[in-house]
Amino acid sequence: MEYIRIKEKVRKAFNPNQPKTFYKTKSPSDIASDVNDGDTKYRIIYANGEIAEWGKHDRYYNVKSKNPNSWRVFGVNNNEVELLRMPDSLNKQYGNLNIEYNFHNSKRRYANPGLFAAMLGSIAVYNKTVTTTGSAFQWGSCFPSALHINGMAIDFEYKSKNNQGGYYPHSSKQYQNDLAFLNAMRLFFDKNRVGEHSHFKGFRQLSGVVDGGSLHNSHFHADFSLTKIEEIKE
Ligand SMILES: [Zn+2]
Repeated sequence: MEYIRIKEKVRKAFNPNQPKTFYKTKSPSDIASDVNDGDTKYRIIYANGEIAEWGKHDRYYNVKSKNPNSWRVFGVNNNEVELLRMPDSLNKQYGNLNIEYNFHNSKRRYANPGLFAAMLGSIAVYNKTVTTTGSAFQWGSCFPSALHINGMAIDFEYKSKNNQGGYYPHSSKQYQNDLAFLNAMRLFFDKNRVGEHSHFKGFRQLSGVVDGGSLHNSHFHADFSLTKIEEIKE
């Protein structure tokens, strides 16, 4: 497994509906490049470790607008944090437990190692395959989200969401599966965000689950906390 150490990122700025030229390089050591990283289309890596990312933010994206895209800037502080590159997929049997996941539509493949352990624990308890849509980029940045900063949060697809933009009924196997996965995540994650839609009403009543607004009508979001790590002393 590949581990890297980075300067801890902090939220610095969000500038909705601004042109690509809104942020520029400031010195020859800054690197600006066009990218195809999910919703991120352009990135500036500043020599001091700060990252500026530009692209499609669902809430502010309007094709009729002169500037449909948005900017987010991730500053740095003096701490260092560790990230690991999550394997592209996993399918492993441990006794009766199967841990299987796949990625979908995301290049945000880096996560805090504790969060990755929490994710594997959740999948093991659930004992079914999940699809993740990722955590953070290798710099700890995570456009369009700010919640995934330093790889401290991760998203998963709902099984009870259908392809027509609606949901399978509460009596469905898909809903029961989502409930089972959510209950597994509640054991390992500090906070789980679900949608504001009435489909999620029962989920929102559970402890450790909050209303994540319309953004989370399309996916589970799990926030990890380092307080969830128990040091085992031998
Ligand atoms: Zn998220």
